[in-house]
This record gives sequence, C-alpha cells and structure tokens, in this order.
Amino acid sequence: MSDHQDSVDTALIERRRRLLGASYRLFYRQPFHPVRGEGVWLFDRHGTPHLDAYNNVACVGHCHPRVVEAIATQAATLNTHTRYLHETILDCAQRLIDSLPPPLEQMVFTCSGSEANDLAVRMARAFTGGDGLIVTELAYHGVTQSIAEASPSLGSKVRLGQAVRTVPAPVDLGDGAAAMGTRFAAGVQAAIDDLAAHGIRPAALLLDSVFSSDGIITGPRGFLGPAVDAIRRAGGLYIADEVQAGLGRTGVMWGFPRHDVSADLVTLGKPLGNGHPVAGVVGRRDVMDHFGETSRYFNTFGGNPVACAAALAVQSVIAEEGLVEHAATVGGKLHVALNQLADAHPRLGEVRSAGLLAGVEVLDPAGSPDAAFAQALVDALRERHILISATGPHGNVLKIRPPLVFGPEHVESLGGALAASLAALAD
Ligand code: PMP
Repeated sequence: MSDHQDSVDTALIERRRRLLGASYRLFYRQPFHPVRGEGVWLFDRHGTPHLDAYNNVACVGHCHPRVVEAIATQAATLNTHTRYLHETILDCAQRLIDSLPPPLEQMVFTCSGSEANDLAVRMARAFTGGDGLIVTELAYHGVTQSIAEASPSLGSKVRLGQAVRTVPAPVDLGDGAAAMGTRFAAGVQAAIDDLAAHGIRPAALLLDSVFSSDGIITGPRGFLGPAVDAIRRAGGLYIADEVQAGLGRTGVMWGFPRHDVSADLVTLGKPLGNGHPVAGVVGRRDVMDHFGETSRYFNTFGGNPVACAAALAVQSVIAEEGLVEHAATVGGKLHVALNQLADAHPRLGEVRSAGLLAGVEVLDPAGSPDAAFAQALVDALRERHILISATGPHGNVLKIRPPLVFGPEHVESLGGALAASLAALAD
C-alpha cells in the first residue's frame, strides 16, 4: 500500500472522528474502505476484491440485482407509510407469517432490530402485566434505551434496567441437549426467583436464537425447551430474537424451531432487506390484539412500500436460489474445513456452527481463551483480503457469518487463508 493510499484513509478516519464522534468504532487494525459490493465480494477503491465472510445483512449477496431493482422500481413509483392502503406490506407480512410456525399470526413492521425488540418487550409487558426481562450474560439486543438496558454486551458502564436479570449462556459440556437445557433453565428459574424476591413479575425471556454475542452457541439442537417452559410457567413470554439467526442463516429458515420450541413473539431485522432498513415483530394474535387495544402504533418509515418491496424481493431470492438449502450444504463444508484446521492447530479450540454461522475458539498455548491472538488472526485475514470478526465473553471466538451465497470455493479460500495466517503468526 502506497503512502498516498494510506493518507487517504488516514484523512477519512480523522474526519469521521471529528464529525461522527467517539461512539463509532472501526473494524481492523488497518480499517477497511469498501466502495462497491457484488455477491460475496467487497471491493476497495483500488478494485481489490475482499471475500466477505462476515456480513449477514447482505444475505442474498451484496447489491443483488433483484433486490436493487425492487427497491428502485418501488422508490420511483410510490413511497408513503402504513396509514394508507398498500398491497406490498400485506404480501410481505403474509409470506413471513407463512414461513413461521404457529401460533405466530400477525406482524408489525419497524426499521431496525432494536426497534423490533423494544416493541416486542412493550407488547410482552402489556400482555403479561409484568416488567421483568431476562437475557443472557453477554446478550446484545439493540440500542434503544430499554433494549440497551437489556444488552450487557455493551459493557459494564451501560447500566442494566432495574427489571432486567441476566442468566449464564447455555454451556455445552458434551452431556446432551437435555442436560444442557436443564442447566440453562436453572439459571432462568433463578432469575425468575430473584425478580419475584424484588416484587417484579416476569414479562419475557428474550434470547438471540444463536447466542451470537455470547460466543455463538448453536447446539446441540433442543436445549432451549426447559428455559421456555420455565418462563411460561412464571407467566412470562418467550421472545425469539431472530435478527441474527433468521432467514436461512442456520441452514433452516428460522433459528428457534431448531430447538423444538414455539415462540410468543419473534423479532426480525438485519438480513430482511439485504441492507435496506426493514425489520419487525411477528407474534401471537392475542398478544398483538392486547397491545393494539391499549396502544396505537405508527412508525413513519417502518413497513413503507420500499422497505416491504425489498423484504419481499429478499424472500423471493432466498426461495428461488435455494439459499436455505445452500447454507446448510456449504455450512456443512465450512464446519468440516474449520474442524480439520482446529484438529491440526493447537491454537484453535472448539468449532460451533449451524449453516453459515460459525464460531471458532482461539486459545493460548496453555489452552485458555486468547482474545489478542484471535484479533491478530482477524487482522491477518483482513490483510489477506478476507473479512471476519471475533466475539464472545472473552473476545476469542472467530465469528464467520458470510452472505448466504458463499460457495464451496469460498470455504476453501477462507480455510487456506486461515491456515496461512496461523502459520505466519506462529513464526
Ligand atoms: N438483536 C441481535 C441479536 C442483534 O445482533 C442485533 C444487531 N447486531 C440487534 C438485535 C439490533 O439490530 P439493529 O442494529 O438493526 O437495531
């Protein structure tokens, strides 16, 4: 990279800091500056392709022509709001509801996953008459006041709400889904008991179906049942946050049914518009009816014709290109490739994956979590033009979560680059 190129990005970083302030963070030791996207590729301003193994928002691939066309056509025709009649919002809601298991029957649109979770919690509180909200120890559910207060991954300086309780994330000790489920449910029950001791009735258990910020916990399938039973016994609802897991990510359409549970409310976001802001809550009719009787809901941009055209196009592309099955097949290859690497390399530990979501533990020579080495690997891959990130309570879990159009050849490139990075860093 020439001095001139460096100075362009350095100026951009300085300008960003000055104009956008301190709360924004950049990825990578050497920040990345893409100017164009296509499929699984992001191109920098020199035209160099970078393999995107990180961005789940562009689920059908960056700038998918069908989605771009749907957005452009609708934007050129009409873009209003949900106080007028329009077919597209209904077609979009219908398609999503049809793809979800009962008893989910109605949908309300928002612009972001945060808003969807905020609204779902309001609905749960209105329906149950309780306030208590239970989340995992390192959960992330979004940025609104009430949801930031239930997102401990934002750090200890962001205070948890008074009615929020955290529970340890599910721990797989290799003793099967039932034992794992019992352990996790014991934490949920303890939180319910603690809420009761403080005179707080539970409203909801809110869980990311793949526990992404808790380090990516994808299996064994079936471990959620006892926790969901516990919250319902206590009079609370189960809100499945599908912002990460939804729309085919795990090799099946939705994440929570992998655990053979039903949800009272489901929140959707990120991949739904392939980058266009569209999100929402799908829920039980009685819960939604109750909310509607006590409160009016209007979200200026939520569910507008352009947003719904984007979401509808995304669903069509997923179906027509067979991307859910594709995620399962290619995800299987990814799992094998990562496990082979982990077997061969002592600095890699457990591989946890479902479909095209994978977490790989990075360890120090003594076998303890090693966040610094994980970060070094993330940066080494970036220098090899492959984009991933790291997550988890210790920051040592490589997070691999590419667009669903990622192919076997991309798995090979990623595996090769990871092996080369491990070798280079070990020297
Ligand atoms: N829930 C989960 C599980 C998420 O990962 C995120 C975003 N990272 C959100 C909710 C919030 O979504 P948004 O950024 O669209 O508000």
